[in-house]
Amino acid sequence: MKTLICQSCGWPFTTATAGTNRDKSENLDYCRDCYQVGAFTDKSLNLHELEVKLLEMAEVHEDISLEEAQQLIKKLPELKRWRMDHI
Ligand SMILES: [Zn+2]
Repeated sequence: MKTLICQSCGWPFTTATAGTNRDKSENLDYCRDCYQVGAFTDKSLNLHELEVKLLEMAEVHEDISLEEAQQLIKKLPELKRWRMDHI
């Protein structure tokens, strides 16, 4: 199965956990957690909140190290959802 990178949260996902478009087809830009039926699940989320969220996840989940979370955070501004914020 192809591994994709969510263009919102930066987390890897597969077609099995892909987001969905309005017509229920797969959206391969975003994961299911971030994007469902053509809209972001958390529309008001901003980049700073996402950074905080990822750091919290690293604290809670043993399989995510703090370094991993920090690496991910560095890449977030390159993702499709956040790119606009930095122009
Ligand atoms: Zn996502």
